[in-house]
Amino acid sequence: MRKKAALIVLLVVATGSVCFWVISKIYPQTEIAVVKPVVAKPEKPVIKYGMNLAEFKVSNHIVQQNEIFAGILSQYNVAGRTINFLSNASQKIFNLSKIKAGNNCTLLCDKNDSIHTPKKLVYEESKVDYVVFNLDSPSIYRGQNKIDHRQREVGGVIKSSLYETFEENNINPALAVRMSEIFAWTIDFYKIQPGDKFKVVYDEDFVNGESVYVGEIKACMFNSGGKDFYAFHYKKGKDGDGDYYDENGNSMKKEFLKAPVKFSRISSKYSLNRFHPVTKEWKAHLGTDYAAAPGTPILATADGVVEEAQFKQFNGNYVKIRHNGQYKTQYLHMSKIGTGMRPGAKVKQGQVIGYVGMTGLATGPHVCYRFWKDGQQVDPLKQKLTFADPMPTKYKADFITQTKGVRLKLAAITYTKQESPKPAKEESVSIDTTLQFAKKFF
Ligand SMILES: [Zn+2]
Repeated sequence: MRKKAALIVLLVVATGSVCFWVISKIYPQTEIAVVKPVVAKPEKPVIKYGMNLAEFKVSNHIVQQNEIFAGILSQYNVAGRTINFLSNASQKIFNLSKIKAGNNCTLLCDKNDSIHTPKKLVYEESKVDYVVFNLDSPSIYRGQNKIDHRQREVGGVIKSSLYETFEENNINPALAVRMSEIFAWTIDFYKIQPGDKFKVVYDEDFVNGESVYVGEIKACMFNSGGKDFYAFHYKKGKDGDGDYYDENGNSMKKEFLKAPVKFSRISSKYSLNRFHPVTKEWKAHLGTDYAAAPGTPILATADGVVEEAQFKQFNGNYVKIRHNGQYKTQYLHMSKIGTGMRPGAKVKQGQVIGYVGMTGLATGPHVCYRFWKDGQQVDPLKQKLTFADPMPTKYKADFITQTKGVRLKLAAITYTKQESPKPAKEESVSIDTTLQFAKKFF
């Protein structure tokens, strides 16, 4: 009996093996395996705002000018009582009157809902922060997209403008602004030529692969007119303020001259309220007056480009200089404007731009020195304008050591077109792969 059973088993196995062999010879490409029941593959999850958007019908609504939150909701057939509830309940979480035109709202509807009544609305307050409004069981909560901090190394050749080149190369244009600030005293960014090149190592924050913030520039190189200009971020000592230095450790910033005339005295300070000697009125005096003998040379307090050089009723003969994106200075009541002073002319620090006089509204020979920072007239005596702290020798060796790594990174950057940054690995982990992991372990 036992023998018989064993023989049958052997026969079945043998027949099976022969069949298998024959079939695999006939259909060599065919995989012979146990057929698994076909399971509908779930849609690839789209994880955003802490949920799987693939479970919903998704649409977007861009907030229009003068549009109010209740207005948006009623457009999408949300019941009045839900709107009222959310308006009241939101007060401690998000001020609904703060919704901004141009910002995105994501509306999530049930997949089978033919009339598109949203179950949730997600308002994007910024690229990082969002507010979720649950509309079916009304509730509100805030959320934050995962910020991915990265160090990026980019390089490029300028084709037209710096800004356009950055856009073409998938580089946040905010980086162009930062670079122009660092090189403000070295490179005239208004005169950048096609063919000029740059390399930068910097920190950048991304949300869903999109740049949201340009952090610290660690190092950059700008090749303008065939000459390389370097800037390295360095902190003098552990707690020192970080600043930019060239490859030899020299400060990137320049000092303003303390006064536009030598051998003079301040006859009237910057004041928001002073008694004017000519008009006999109390008025703000947004300049600093330096009394000096008529004809005393007036000097440009820093390098720059002449913006205005002309006569005006109150100012008399004057020159206005743009130093960089941040600073401008103006020199009034000149007896004579210096030769060559016309809009667009370049001036060097200490260059004679005119001579002391009393043209315009003035009681005696003086130069009224006016100083602009970021478009505001400020008191130059109260500004920290002695930027150019030379690096003490004791830090030089440390500077070279600290910047060694970033110098190598900078050298390795190529000028080829930059790829758009890919999302970080963590972000591309979908439920699919998580399940595969789970299968492997259980
Ligand atoms: Zn004045």
